[in-house]
Amino acid sequence: MNGSSRPCIVSADAAGIARAAQVLRSGGLVALPTETVYGLAARADSDEAVAAIYRAKGRPDFNPLIVHVANLDRARVLAYLDERAEKLAQVFWPGALTLVLPKRTDAGLAAAVTAGLPTVALRCPAHPVMRAVLAETGLPLAAPSANRSGAVSPTRAGHAASSLAGRIDLVLDGGASSAGIESTIVALREGGRWQVLRPGPIDEARISAVLGSESDVTTPGSVEAPGQLASHYAPGKPVRLGAEDARPDEFHIGFGAVEGDASLSPSGDLAEAAARLYALLHEASAAVEPRIAVAPIPRDGIGAAINDRLRRAAA
Ligand code: AMP
Ligand code: MG
Repeated sequence: MNGSSRPCIVSADAAGIARAAQVLRSGGLVALPTETVYGLAARADSDEAVAAIYRAKGRPDFNPLIVHVANLDRARVLAYLDERAEKLAQVFWPGALTLVLPKRTDAGLAAAVTAGLPTVALRCPAHPVMRAVLAETGLPLAAPSANRSGAVSPTRAGHAASSLAGRIDLVLDGGASSAGIESTIVALREGGRWQVLRPGPIDEARISAVLGSESDVTTPGSVEAPGQLASHYAPGKPVRLGAEDARPDEFHIGFGAVEGDASLSPSGDLAEAAARLYALLHEASAAVEPRIAVAPIPRDGIGAAINDRLRRAAA
């Protein structure tokens, strides 16, 4: 473990990727870029390495981790993919979709990865750096967001380095995450039912279009997905939503026509707003104003996921 207050940040070039792979193979922790947010990776087949993730984040151990795989074949080794899962993976992988699937009994994953559940959450990420690390290690990698539990997620190497200072071995700097919001999580259940456990960059309508059915609203998802805890992504200050104007003691995050002190997207582009959301929450958190106000954000498309994160940041 790196003893200094800030972990070593290295550029995500070939040498940096080789070093990250080495650290991961020996059971260490590496913060690295994915297209959603920066992840805190460890080998998913090692009890010690997975325990180190929970320790570094201060994450409750009932909250299972997403396992990242290099491709669909690697997913099939860890979980049972039915026809629906195969279809979704064909369409959205590599990308920002996580599938909750029945875990294979011979998956060889650390028990803590799934927090004792019979299911496992799998994602095949698109980011070239994460893909290179997966290829070079040849391992499934558990990787929650690279921040202390409950805090604002990191979309830049510096965010991860300051949130986890002294707790991790290495940070790979691959620039800002492009999507900026955690993956969409879909649980595929028996009897053809399915449910979005966490809204994300791939909105529910696109999932329905592929599956040819509506999501199941009767199954409660909150118990099995603690990432849906009411308070999460906390910037450490009170947050007021739907704010067209700000009071003098508020740092105002704008959107579209609402200018603010800093804007998620002056042109009102929701994808841009998602990509900038956490960076602006970090900025608002560091600002002199003791409070944060956020302009109204439309709910269509990725706007649903942005509003979901804002609601938890404000809770
Ligand atoms: P994070 O790693 O912080 O992006 O959060 C991972 C999310 O995936 C959390 O909301 C977890 O509850 C959810 N998750 C992981 N594994 C499972 C699973 N087997 N069943 C349901 N949700 C899961
Ligand atoms: Mg997180």
